[in-house]
Amino acid sequence: MAAAAGFRNEFSWSHSRYETFKECLRRYYYNYYAYWGGWNADADPFARKLYILKNLKNRYLWAGSAVHDAVAEILELVQVGQVPPDPEEVAERTLEKMRTGFRQSRGKEYLDNPKRAVGLVEHHYNEPVADEVWRDMAAMVRNSILGFCRGSFLASAKELKLDQWLSLEKLLTFVIDEAKVYVKMDFAYRTNEGGAVICDWKTGKRKPQPEGLQLGCYALYATEAWDLRPEQIQVIEANINIGAIGSARISQAHIDSARSQIATGIAAMRERLVDPVGNVAQESDFPAKPSSRLCGRCVYRELCPEYISQFGSGGS
Ligand code: SF4
Repeated sequence: MAAAAGFRNEFSWSHSRYETFKECLRRYYYNYYAYWGGWNADADPFARKLYILKNLKNRYLWAGSAVHDAVAEILELVQVGQVPPDPEEVAERTLEKMRTGFRQSRGKEYLDNPKRAVGLVEHHYNEPVADEVWRDMAAMVRNSILGFCRGSFLASAKELKLDQWLSLEKLLTFVIDEAKVYVKMDFAYRTNEGGAVICDWKTGKRKPQPEGLQLGCYALYATEAWDLRPEQIQVIEANINIGAIGSARISQAHIDSARSQIATGIAAMRERLVDPVGNVAQESDFPAKPSSRLCGRCVYRELCPEYISQFGSGGS
């Protein structure tokens, strides 16, 4: 399970990987080990199926990532000194892309092309979603893009000099206990005073809550890679759909807590492996934890024997 197609499945830690590990070990095994090699059309059928399911998104994640892509595209232009396009134009282009994705998903094109074609959980599992719900989602996407363009972040970004841009949707890594730790910040910049502001965009309706391990990881990265003291770091969670902003200053206690939680996670995840050096896992060490709360939104329910025995067929 560790090597395929000439490259290795390397052990690493990320916030989402650790969340999956804590929620259901079987889902973790499917998502980070058993799918390996499934990108090849002639892969082992189980790995291929897992790979297809791994690439599915629910409508909330799909809409959120469409907004993130649009915002990143705008900021990339600002970073190189270009005038960003008209917000309405960006919103319409994003929605047009989503309409194409919706048709791909409804036509099940992702079964043959899981990486390129959009696949939505709702279509795969034939979940009934009223037209009005899809329309509300499109309105949310549009509102978030327009909200971002009219809000203070874009105006601030335009004032930045090139060397103040720290990160824009880039996959960043650092190392803890010899494991690669991944973080991806939506937007981070250096302030005129030499500190850093790290922004996390949210959509949907939830009020911003700038706290928790994910933001702690960003701050930890900033102290290590950008040589900042905790008190120089500000993390912002901005819900660009409802126009609400939450902000927090970082302390040494946040940094220590993030580091210790990551180290604990790395140790627990390694302990489950039959070969921690080779990053080899076996299914029997990753028991399923069926629950109506978790399984109802799990992309693997079609294949998970425990789900099927407890809740009946999860098939599409
Ligand atoms: S269907 Fe439920 S038990 Fe099975 S992998 Fe998913 S979350 Fe775990």
